[in-house]
Amino acid sequence: MQYIDLARQQARIKKTLDKRMAAVLAHGQYIMGPEVRELEVRLEKMTGAAHCIACASGSIALEMVLAAWGIGPGSLVFTTPFSFIATVEAIARLGATPVFVDINPETYNIDPAKLELAIDAFVGKEHGLDKRREFGQRGVSEYLHKSGAADAPEPRAIITVDLFGNAVDYDAVLALALANRLLVLEDGAQGFGSVYKGRKLCDCGCNAATTSFFPAKPLGCYGDGGAVFSNDDSLARTVDSLRYHGRIDHKHKNENVRLGYNGRLDTLQAAVLLAKLEVFEEELSMRTAVAERYGELLAHASPDIGLPRLTEGCVSNWAQYTIRLPDGVDREGIMAQLAAKDIPVAINYPVSLHLQKSLAYLGYKKGDFPVAEKVCSQVLSLPMHPYLTENEQETVVQALAQAVGKRQ
Ligand SMILES: *Cc1c(COP(=O)(O)O)cnc(C)c1O
Repeated sequence: MQYIDLARQQARIKKTLDKRMAAVLAHGQYIMGPEVRELEVRLEKMTGAAHCIACASGSIALEMVLAAWGIGPGSLVFTTPFSFIATVEAIARLGATPVFVDINPETYNIDPAKLELAIDAFVGKEHGLDKRREFGQRGVSEYLHKSGAADAPEPRAIITVDLFGNAVDYDAVLALALANRLLVLEDGAQGFGSVYKGRKLCDCGCNAATTSFFPAKPLGCYGDGGAVFSNDDSLARTVDSLRYHGRIDHKHKNENVRLGYNGRLDTLQAAVLLAKLEVFEEELSMRTAVAERYGELLAHASPDIGLPRLTEGCVSNWAQYTIRLPDGVDREGIMAQLAAKDIPVAINYPVSLHLQKSLAYLGYKKGDFPVAEKVCSQVLSLPMHPYLTENEQETVVQALAQAVGKRQ
């Protein structure tokens, strides 16, 4: 059994895939070939976003949006500590300061009530250090103080993450952003294909969104890839320039008006994605069926396991199917028992980002975000892909229920 079985998908799309890739080999425009724009247009139609700019990865997509907004030293960006490292890396790489906000214990996404408290503590000079101590911001406040930015750290943006395909509570987050003049960047690396209250993720009202085409994502290529989405013409033009070393326009690649990146998507990867798009919508329904079946099987076999809970109004792409083990369960032990039966599982994510060594300089400490820390210690992601069979799911659930049951 595979955690994500890309071979089964490939067998289905092989013909189109071969044709699409052969076309690229024939025309030979490996960089910015016609498939790149063809893909962008398809993705614009699918999401509803006015602009899609294909990029080299989801990570660089995040960084290019922040760079286009002029976020850097002296900027504060609010985000979740329960995500893949790339979300916060983009902020820190540009010299801006990430401000973490704890998550909702059910949806695992940024908690709007806590976001409001965090914004309140950092927006406006009348709020002193004291206020920031109460909810995990003491360390970072001291860091800002030491680095001389305490007088005017400027809150600029929020990065939301649609973790495991589940939408953020965008009604609440976008209202806070509006009231406090903050930009919102949706990290939709796991959210492409999901829906929030009738709007596709990556076009759900944020100033910009990004996604990733890393092979394991719901829409993945055969290498690295990503995209930026926005309805902002000017931002789209800047990102389009940034991904090509800051060139002035499409005709003048050697006239460079801003410091940019090698941030383009390869034509061959665009061709792979175009082939995969032929089955993507159907795969979304297959993913839903798999998720529903897990829900039923697990509820029956092991009722004390925490099932995924979606944000109100969300239809998920089920990028991951992540359960929460009951209190007091030895996760390592459970994983060992599953490994012995060749059942692949994963931990997304074992370390809350505020405790990552690479970010220790920010001054965050254990205990700053108790919900994220606890969830990190209990989550377990099960095999999840559209081609998972009923038999395979039963095997997974039986083994898991047995392992969890055995602990007492
Ligand atoms: C995968 C992922 C990224 C990074 O995408 P890459 O294409 O691997 O650079 C960023 N954020 C989240 C939430 C992700 O899951």
